[in-house]
Amino acid sequence: MLLKNRLFTPGPTPLLPAAQNAMAAFTAHHRTADFKALFTRVLADMKDFIGTQNDVLVIASSGTGAMEGSVSNLTSPGDRVLVLTAGKFGERWRDLAKAYGCQVDLVEKPYGNTFSLDEVRAKLTPETKAVYVQATESSTGARHDVEGIAKLVRKNGDNTLLVVDAITGLGTTHFDVDGWGIDVIIGGSQKALMIPPGLAYVAVSERAWKRMESTKNPRYYFDFRKERKSAAKGETAFTPATSLFAALGAALDFVRQMGNGDIAAGRKALVDNAELAAEMTRAGVTALGLKLYSSAPSAALTAINAPAGLDSGEIVKEFRESYSAVVANGQGDMKGKLFRIAHIGYYDYLDTVGILAALEQVLTAVTDQKVEFGSAVRAAQQVFAQSRSREVAEVAGR
Ligand SMILES: *Cc1c(COP(=O)(O)O)cnc(C)c1O
Repeated sequence: MLLKNRLFTPGPTPLLPAAQNAMAAFTAHHRTADFKALFTRVLADMKDFIGTQNDVLVIASSGTGAMEGSVSNLTSPGDRVLVLTAGKFGERWRDLAKAYGCQVDLVEKPYGNTFSLDEVRAKLTPETKAVYVQATESSTGARHDVEGIAKLVRKNGDNTLLVVDAITGLGTTHFDVDGWGIDVIIGGSQKALMIPPGLAYVAVSERAWKRMESTKNPRYYFDFRKERKSAAKGETAFTPATSLFAALGAALDFVRQMGNGDIAAGRKALVDNAELAAEMTRAGVTALGLKLYSSAPSAALTAINAPAGLDSGEIVKEFRESYSAVVANGQGDMKGKLFRIAHIGYYDYLDTVGILAALEQVLTAVTDQKVEFGSAVRAAQQVFAQSRSREVAEVAGR
C-alpha cells in the first residue's frame, strides 16, 4: 500500500499545516513594526498557553538551551542544588548543574520510576538553592508529581527555586504554574505546539528574577535578563527565528480555536486530547499482552516494553519500513528494551487507532505471538466510547 510518513515520536511531533503555511509566507525583517506586532502577540499568548502571569521568554535554541540558561542564570559555583532524576533528561539536569560547578544532591530512581515525596522532602535543606525536575520524563514515559514537589519546595522557603523541564509536559499535563509556585517552567517548539524544532520557551517568576541579581555563573547568549529587557521593548536581544515565530503565532491561534476563542481553554482541550490518546494507547497495548515501561505513565507518551527476547529496534524498524510510522526506540541503556509512542500536540483519534492497528500487524510480523486482530483497537475503542458518553452526560448535566 501507499505509505504516508507519520511521526509518533516525543519530539519532533507532527506539524500543524497552518503553522507550516505561516512560516513559508513570513518574510518580515526582525526590526520592523510587523515583526514587533507578531512578537508581542506571541509573548502574550504564550502566557495564556503556559497559564502564568510571569514573564515568558522565547529563545532561538533547542529546549536544552533554556535548561542550560536555567542553571547558568540561577546559580553560582558551589551552590547546593537538588536534582530529581529517573531518566535521560533528569541526567541532563545533573550534568548541567555539575558543568556549572554546583554541588549536586540527587534523588535518583531507576528508569521508569518516579519519586516519592518523602524522598524529596528528606533531601531538601535550607541551603538548597534550586530543585530541578522533569514534568514528564520523555525517555521513560513517566510522569512526576510536580504539584506535590512544588508544595515541598515552597514550604522550604523562598531561598529554594523550583525549575521544571516541561518540554513534553506543556500541552500534555495540567499545571497551575503560579498557584503552585513554579519559578521556571520550560517548553520547546517541537513538542506540543506542533511546529519545527528551534524555539525554547521559559516562564520566569519574580523570585527567580531576583535571584539573578546575585548569581555569578557565566552567561551570555542565554542571559535571561538581557532577553527580558529587550522583550519589554518588543524586541529580542539577538536575531530571532522569525519564521518560527510566525509558525508559533499560527499554532497559538489553533489552540485558541480549540478553546472557542480562549487559549487557556484550548490548552485544557489539548491536554485532555493527550490524556485520552494515552489512555486509549495503554488499553490497546495492554490488550496485546504488552507491559508499560513506567509505573507512573504520562499523557505525553507511552513507553512499552519489547516482548521478552525481542530487541525493540525490530518493532521500530517494522513500523517504519512497512507503515512509515516513526516510533522511538529507547535512549541510552534503554535502547532495544522499549519503544515509545507519543501523544504530544497534533495527534487525533485516527492517529491513535491507526498506530494500534499497525502494532497488531507489527507484532504478527516480528514475533511468534498469535495476535488477535482488532484486540488492541477494540480496547482503545471502548476507552474512547466511555469518554464520549461521559462527555455527553456532562453536557446534559449542565
Ligand atoms: C525533548 C526534550 C528535551 C530536550 O529538548 P531539545 O530540544 O532536544 O534540546 C528535554 N527534556 C525533555 C523532557 C524532552 O522531552
